[in-house]
Amino acid sequence: MAANRILPVVTEENAFFWQAARQGRLEISRCAECEAWLHPPTGVCARCGSRKVAPVEVRPTGRVHSFTVNEQLWNPLQEPPYVLAVVDLDEAAPVRLTTELVGVGPDEVEIGMPVRAVFEPQDADDRVALVLFEPDPERETDPGQTEVELVVPDRAAFAAPSIVSGDPPERSAVISGLGQSQVGRRIGRTDLDLTIEAALAAIGDAGLCPADIDGISAYPGAGIGGPGFSGPDIYDVQDALGLSLGWHHSGAGGAGQLGAVVAAALAVSSGLARHVLCYRTVTEATGGKGGAKGSGSTGGMASGFRAPGVYGWFMPYGAYSAANWIAMNATRYMHTFGLTREQLAGVALNGRRNAGLNPKAVYREEMTLEDYMSVRMVTSPLCLYDCDVPVDGSTVVIVSHRDTLPDLARPPAHIEAVGTALRGRPSWDQWRDLTTCVAADCAAQMWGRTDLGPGDLDGAQLYDGFSILTLIWLEALGICGKGEAGAFVSDWEDRLSHAGEFPLNTSGGQLSAGRLHGFGLLHEAVLRCMLLTR
Ligand code: ZN
Repeated sequence: MAANRILPVVTEENAFFWQAARQGRLEISRCAECEAWLHPPTGVCARCGSRKVAPVEVRPTGRVHSFTVNEQLWNPLQEPPYVLAVVDLDEAAPVRLTTELVGVGPDEVEIGMPVRAVFEPQDADDRVALVLFEPDPERETDPGQTEVELVVPDRAAFAAPSIVSGDPPERSAVISGLGQSQVGRRIGRTDLDLTIEAALAAIGDAGLCPADIDGISAYPGAGIGGPGFSGPDIYDVQDALGLSLGWHHSGAGGAGQLGAVVAAALAVSSGLARHVLCYRTVTEATGGKGGAKGSGSTGGMASGFRAPGVYGWFMPYGAYSAANWIAMNATRYMHTFGLTREQLAGVALNGRRNAGLNPKAVYREEMTLEDYMSVRMVTSPLCLYDCDVPVDGSTVVIVSHRDTLPDLARPPAHIEAVGTALRGRPSWDQWRDLTTCVAADCAAQMWGRTDLGPGDLDGAQLYDGFSILTLIWLEALGICGKGEAGAFVSDWEDRLSHAGEFPLNTSGGQLSAGRLHGFGLLHEAVLRCMLLTR
């Protein structure tokens, strides 16, 4: 049993937790000054700033806050199905632990179920025991014990005048050119080759030549995540195109994939560059194992791999993928708002219908609700069609200063406002309201930087790496009220098509057009803006 686990990297900060578990105790870090419970442990109190923090033993019991039944084989040593859960600790609220639930059938788990810890010593490291949980027969299930205050977007505020005095600096930036390489499943070309194809197309689309490009920005840059995830290094792209740069930037930190575009907009607004080449390139279909996703992928794990940082709290239990972590959001959302799988299917069915009009989409054949309902589960409640499809491809946009308009081939797409805020916990399981995510923070900030509101939108291209995320974005942006996105997308046939009242993910999105990791959606949004304003 214990030999199937990927172990966490043991650090000075977290060693006490694993060591206490080895001795059959649950210890959580607490602030001696303000008594806040702190997890993961960092050696400082996030509430009051005190360094007087120390482990305190707590009762090893809790309640299931959310769960998923994982059906996907991620690690050959850990056979599915198995049950993963986020557990609210009874004595250390608001701390939660991601864990594996044992001693319970996949059909028996429910939110609010009382559980108690089972400590599982690891043969490979005598400093470590994992903290699994099992049902606690001495208490009753009570979902009410797991309730949290929901984050409800203030839709009235979203139509209020901008809180930024003068024009926000991003409004100095325009998107002047678009380029996209060949896109497909396992096309077997290098990430640099695909990036150069897309870059030359985008530079030409803007009416520019490589000598005009004086900035470069990419998410995430080389060496991050599993095989095929990161794309080429920005300096390899610079060198290949012979660029002379005033500004350059890459990295996995920052405001997600489009953080690369936001950074470029700020760079041109501040005069560090005039034309920035922004790219996102993936070769995950060729490089990965098809089902493995993102930086949580097991695709690139060598033997002896230990899960670093935050992954050390998830991967040892078998929560290997963003699919598992986000499935917990989906389960919690369904519990809170009564969302059904038939409603959630609207995101995937709309994507597939729209992909039929996109020659580059990888999945274009018709999909029915019956197809969706009968396809295999990946990690409940997310089935195969709720998870995007790894592809090879590169997308490039050119971000230019608006003063360069006379040099451009055609009217560009203007940037009205951006949002990059991160105010809640940067964590998959400690985020308080799992029916939303950081989308709520950055959407609110974006609307605060413009006089426009959700009612002014002519449609949207919203992230659909997993279908539930599109629902979360619809609500975060105020397009739907809290809890109403399921009903909104269930009317996909009329409402969400190119000709509908609210065209959504018109290229097919990542679910059907392919996982171009945000930039495919940006490409489609800019294309539609350029068509609408032409
Ligand atoms: Zn404190």
